[in-house]
Amino acid sequence: AVSAWSNVPQGPPPGITEAFKADSNPEKINLGVGAYRDDEGNPFVLPSVRTAEKNNVDLSMDKEYAGITGVPAFTKAAALLAYGPDSAPIKEDRIAVTQSISGTGALRIGGAFLERFYPGSKTIYIPSPSWANHTAVFKDSGLKVEKYRYYNKDTIGLDFDGMVGDIKAMPKGSIILLHACAHNPTGVDPTEEQWIAIAEAVKEGGHFPFFDMAYQGFASGDTNKDAFALRYFIKEGLQPVLAQSFAKNMGLYGERVGAFSVVCETAEEKKRVDSQIKILVRPLYSNPPVHGARIASAILNDPALKKQWLGEVKEMADRIITMRALLKGNLEKLGSKHDWSHITSQIGMFAYTGLKPEQVDVLAKEHSVYATRDGRISVAGITTDNVKRLAEAIFKVTG
Ligand code: PLP
Repeated sequence: AVSAWSNVPQGPPPGITEAFKADSNPEKINLGVGAYRDDEGNPFVLPSVRTAEKNNVDLSMDKEYAGITGVPAFTKAAALLAYGPDSAPIKEDRIAVTQSISGTGALRIGGAFLERFYPGSKTIYIPSPSWANHTAVFKDSGLKVEKYRYYNKDTIGLDFDGMVGDIKAMPKGSIILLHACAHNPTGVDPTEEQWIAIAEAVKEGGHFPFFDMAYQGFASGDTNKDAFALRYFIKEGLQPVLAQSFAKNMGLYGERVGAFSVVCETAEEKKRVDSQIKILVRPLYSNPPVHGARIASAILNDPALKKQWLGEVKEMADRIITMRALLKGNLEKLGSKHDWSHITSQIGMFAYTGLKPEQVDVLAKEHSVYATRDGRISVAGITTDNVKRLAEAIFKVTG
């Protein structure tokens, strides 16, 4: 008998995690992971998360289903964290929020909602480059995906003119995806002045902003500062949608805690949008998991725990900023003639080193240093112990 799956093609080979695992060098360095590591290179569970989780267990809560849009105490607090206590749409009760399977799930619900209800063209413009999963998520939601200029490889910085030029050239009413902070993979963010000009161009074109905020607090260590772009757009009268993730800023990666929200015109419109989000979510997964959302909710709704958490977010952000400075300092000490200032000017978990794919290959083969071939390194994988060896390896391959 012929198998039903004989025509299923083989997908691409596994990425660098496999190669890293297979390497027997005890000094190997993995700069591919998109998760925070402590200074010993170990996964980090935030003490505030441990406390919240323990408190929740002690409460012996039931395991009943959440509603379709999740744990209300969580979604309310998540929206407050993103939009801020002074947010007009929050005060006027015109933001529809649903819990999601972390940031990815929020993007997917957002894609599906726009595909079903956005009155304009069903094309979403994403930055070039963007998080590798954006294209697949939006295509699978039924949207068409196009790119706008974002990264300038000559300056290893933002192609601001290219970006604004492309926004102005988009057909009126286009959907545009913006990384709210800590752009992945480049670590290059617009300045506040540049965001103001970007908002102006988006407004002028009548475009529709879709914010992906996967790193609130992780970029600067300050959750308000990292929400600047989102809040500024709203102040300017734009009504964005937002995908939020608590994977990085709470270290809740595998718990899959996120939220998708829609800023509406009125409370009545919000009710209609909310009802349609429920119709969308129900056949996807009925309702979201409660464990992680209850942890996030316990932190966000307890002033003392929230304060502790904000301190821990800042600690993570600061360790990353310190590692950036150490890497740059070590490269300079070795006498590298290249300008490495982008390593410290970029922000968030990732640094775009400017290394070429062939140089990344040599790093892996000869130095047991693993990064993605676009030259992106996860700064979270750097420690005080391995930074010197890492700088030596980068120095050797870049000359
Ligand atoms: N968006 C961006 C830009 C990301 O970098 C990530 C994770 O790496 C996500 C969304 C979604 O992550 P998660 O689904 O784990 O929340």
